[in-house]
Amino acid sequence: MKTTRREFVVLGAAAAASVAGQAQGANVTDPWYRRVRRWGQVNITEDDGNMDIGFWRRYMKDTYTQGTIINSGGVVNYYDSRIPGAHKGLTLGNRDLLGELVKACAEDGIVYVARMTNTPTDEIIKMHPEWMCQDAAGKRTNRACMNGGYLYEWVPAQMKEIAVRYKPAGFAVNGGGGLNYQLCYCQVCTKLFKDKTGHDLPGAVNWKDPVYRDWVKWNADQVIALWDFQNKVTRTAGGPDCYWIGMTRGVVTERNMLRILERSPVSFQDHQNRSDASGFQQFTEDGKLTHGIMGWDKIVTASQALYGPRMTTKAAPESQMWMYEGIAGSISPWWHTISAHHHDKRRYETALPVFKWHLENEQYLYDRTPVATIGIVYSEDNNVFYGRDDVSGNVEAPWRGWINSFTRYRVPYIVINAEHIERYAHKVSTLVLPNLAAMTDAQVAAVKRFVANGGNLVATGDTSLHDPLGDARPDYALADLFGAHWVSGSRPNTGYRAPISGRSNPFDIDPGPGFATAGEGERPLGINTYVRLTPELRAHVAYSPHPKGDEPPVAPGAARHPIFHGFDKTDAIYFGGVVPKLTTDAGTEVLLTFIPVAPVLQAENAWWRTPKTDIQAMMVRTLPNGARVVFMPADFDRQYASGNNPDHGILLSNAVRWAAKEDLPLAIEGPGYMDCNLYQQTGQYSGRIVLHVANLTYATFRAPMDEFVPVGPFKVRVKLGKGVTGQTVKLLVAGQPAQSHVSNGWVEFVVPSVTGHEVVAIT
Ligand SMILES: [Zn+2]
Repeated sequence: MKTTRREFVVLGAAAAASVAGQAQGANVTDPWYRRVRRWGQVNITEDDGNMDIGFWRRYMKDTYTQGTIINSGGVVNYYDSRIPGAHKGLTLGNRDLLGELVKACAEDGIVYVARMTNTPTDEIIKMHPEWMCQDAAGKRTNRACMNGGYLYEWVPAQMKEIAVRYKPAGFAVNGGGGLNYQLCYCQVCTKLFKDKTGHDLPGAVNWKDPVYRDWVKWNADQVIALWDFQNKVTRTAGGPDCYWIGMTRGVVTERNMLRILERSPVSFQDHQNRSDASGFQQFTEDGKLTHGIMGWDKIVTASQALYGPRMTTKAAPESQMWMYEGIAGSISPWWHTISAHHHDKRRYETALPVFKWHLENEQYLYDRTPVATIGIVYSEDNNVFYGRDDVSGNVEAPWRGWINSFTRYRVPYIVINAEHIERYAHKVSTLVLPNLAAMTDAQVAAVKRFVANGGNLVATGDTSLHDPLGDARPDYALADLFGAHWVSGSRPNTGYRAPISGRSNPFDIDPGPGFATAGEGERPLGINTYVRLTPELRAHVAYSPHPKGDEPPVAPGAARHPIFHGFDKTDAIYFGGVVPKLTTDAGTEVLLTFIPVAPVLQAENAWWRTPKTDIQAMMVRTLPNGARVVFMPADFDRQYASGNNPDHGILLSNAVRWAAKEDLPLAIEGPGYMDCNLYQQTGQYSGRIVLHVANLTYATFRAPMDEFVPVGPFKVRVKLGKGVTGQTVKLLVAGQPAQSHVSNGWVEFVVPSVTGHEVVAIT
């Protein structure tokens, strides 16, 4: 044990003494986008004319920062620009702040990336009204058109000037950087669209209008055209490695991630903190989503706010946990602060321990791929053409339910773009399609091949019920795998809505006689509906009332399906939504049936008028080749994201565990909400397994998290991969080894306590 402790100390000292500009594992001759693993950013304001550069040089050293993003041009210039309409920072005077910062970076071996803020100033709007978007009535707005002169002439002129004068390694941007997905009727858009399609611009958003659909696709192509143009500008002016990196967001509903990331050597993201709904675990999901497209050998980084709100400091545990969860998703840390001086000086300490730990443990955090048997699938076509005007309800909510269930119930997973099912098919045993409604024929065929080769499938909601443009198909394209069919005449559940506001009781929805065939716009959340488990066993619950005639007798030897593990004492669980009418094939076993809505008020009224139906809410099949399929027309995933009902989360995780034949690479016992992520390394440390465990026990609800509360101990079992014996287990945060026991291809050990996170290296 002493030797190991000494190793840690020696490593720490050596790392601290190393030059900040050199990454431990990366080759110094690699281009910047493969080498820089710790980023930092002071988002300079116009009030920073007296910036204390000396302090920030020290801070970069103390955080082992290797690359920095410096505000350079766009809305404000931090130097004297010769471009007409450029606006120099108010308090800069004659100071060339950008020049001083670039010089300091060069002296300290820090990579400089130029940040653009591509929002036109009032002066430019006045000079060039023709560059601005136009609404349908012909009125100019203050937003620059994505296809107009601001982004195609003015910004490129600035970038060329910056590239020549200050030689940045690359260019990034704030937020969307001028990309937009709204209709613009300016002269440029009108002509470009007409030239391309032969049509006038569509008059309004109308998803059923073929011209509007053409516009959506054309607009997406224009986003990529602008991206490519910006790369041409920066690489022509700054050299072949001077990429336009722009910025993305790393969320599942983002548009054009696939095409943008396929052309980017590194990913920069504006993804500064968690939302109350998606939690810290979303940052790990982001890493899986982004690396899933780019590959795990690329660097993905995202600005991580030390502030909040703008002028003050966020609680340190909130910022640090966001960083830990990013690292667990192989996202490189990037501290980010607004303004170079603050009256609230608490923020400077926040990043120090995280960045020091990152430096000391870099060898475990790169050159690795995730280990998981479950792959969850999303598609950008589905986001756009099925998500339509409510992508968060139609697409993200079901997705979020799954991610939250995986995290809460410790199911390791990877994220797969529907275009990449073939690429990842051999890595996972089970695909999850969360309400993946709009699918191309090729995607459907890829899923069918996956299952034909023995892969297992879990699908929910309207999966495969729509074509790639979001139009309803006559039946699920995957109906033969589900063993279930859409009933002709039922309207698809394309809509979604929160409980109705303005009613005295949000649960008081009269579903009408066709309660099982919710129509468009009628996919409610949190209404008073339930599902029944089969077979019914409640007569066997000894400690309970047994009213005569209410409880069906239990057949001798009656047993529940493994999906109902943990539900032994109940015959019904809450649902909250509605389900469509279906028919099922022979061999399809219906495990859950729908119980229609019952009154909530008054309490005397709250009893089931129809306690039992044959309306299918969940069904399972085992195919002749052994593949398992679970289909849930009931949207438990969306309900879980909304209501956080543990029964829903447990049901989802049980379903995926059964489908995967219980083949998960990891089992962790001990109370607490622990986000668990597993990797196996390649290259120099080939075979080594790395487990990240983040303690979200007190961090599952609203931000900010203001305290770390230690939990543990945990009994951990990890399946050993090729080239790893499991003889040595090191806890990289506690800084100590753990006793390991190896048997039958698994290693078992105890993690005594987890405060923020623990990372375990297994060799
Ligand atoms: Zn336009």
